[in-house]
Amino acid sequence: MRQKLVYSLVLGLIAGVASLASPPAQAEWVTRVTDGIMGTRITVELWSDDDAKAQAAIDALLAEMRHIDESMSTYKPTSEVSQVNAKAADGPMPISKELFDLLVTAKDYSRLTDGAFDITYASVGYLYDFRKRVRPSEAQIDKALPAINYEHVVLDPEHQTVRFSQKGVRIDLGGIAKGYAVDRGIDVLKSFGITRAYVSAGGDSRIIGDRFGKPWIVGVRDPRKGPGEVLLRIPLVDAAISTSGDYERFFDENGVRYHHIIDPHTGHSASKVRSATVIGPYATRTDGLSKTAFVLGPEKALEIYNRITDVDAIIVKLDGTVVYSKGMRHAAPDGAAAANAPDAPDAAGAAAATGATGAASPGAKEPQQQPDALVPTPAPAATP
Ligand code: ADP
Ligand code: MG
Repeated sequence: MRQKLVYSLVLGLIAGVASLASPPAQAEWVTRVTDGIMGTRITVELWSDDDAKAQAAIDALLAEMRHIDESMSTYKPTSEVSQVNAKAADGPMPISKELFDLLVTAKDYSRLTDGAFDITYASVGYLYDFRKRVRPSEAQIDKALPAINYEHVVLDPEHQTVRFSQKGVRIDLGGIAKGYAVDRGIDVLKSFGITRAYVSAGGDSRIIGDRFGKPWIVGVRDPRKGPGEVLLRIPLVDAAISTSGDYERFFDENGVRYHHIIDPHTGHSASKVRSATVIGPYATRTDGLSKTAFVLGPEKALEIYNRITDVDAIIVKLDGTVVYSKGMRHAAPDGAAAANAPDAPDAAGAAAATGATGAASPGAKEPQQQPDALVPTPAPAATP
């Protein structure tokens, strides 16, 4: 299973080489960028031989994402999650199957990450406002901290209810909802018969299919440079990728960076790495797991990523050096940049995925016609 990343690359490439058929004459890549859902940018790029169908598929994807935002945002008092926060400490509360299933998944990720991922982080997290440079006092944190524990979220599958085992517990799905929305978006596209697509919501992306014999290339942003600066380019086929960074929402005060990932054990910002990128089969999973290294630090996080058989990870440590999970090591820039690795798509060239997972390579409208436009820029292994 450790080959999982490689598997999708290599299999994708083999499949691609075997079927290097030209794209149908009438077909084209269709791209749409939409701001303002879940407070982030949604990018969709897909291949379709019918523009009307492509536009309808993207409309349906965006409608699905708006629905998820309406139901799961804690910024909206009417959302189902806000209702849960208001009432679940009073007793079991019936919830939708969709929310119930996502809460089950969230608890699963808490167990997988030794508690680093914990949606009850919000019991303290709600006291921060990163835009307004507001943070709680130590006394406020001490008082609210006992409410952080995913075991406080009691789920009853028979009655499909949720209950908080004590007062003061709050949940927030901000660490998983964008990935989940990307997965649901991909499902919508598949229901329209789309087989090649890239979907991203902020730092969470997923790809289905290849680009006619070539992988998609997703850039991982350099955490200490501007949004367009790529640390590393990763070729992907049928995979999801999420990046968490300490540069997303933060303020600095007296040399300390306060940012939006919270250590559930302390209630403080979790600052043990600069960024963490996780690659896996689903964006819900890569999103949920990308917070781990911030809370546990690179060594412990790598242990966990190496243990979870279907994910790989790239971590930028506090000193700017980059470390990789086992399945990625062959692709480390030391040997060769991911896209330069011997079994990677050198010859296949590269088409682009645009993504806030980092910057992306510029888009190639017709991948067959400009195969070399994006061929790998080896990235520095470290940023001092
Ligand atoms: P983005 O929101 O840009 O996708 P991340 O994927 O890194 O960024 O997720 C950060 C979000 O995760 C925070 O804004 C917050 O909503 C949530 N969060 C913060 N700390 C934790 C934690 N320890 N466990 C689960 N979710 C968290
Ligand atoms: Mg995310």
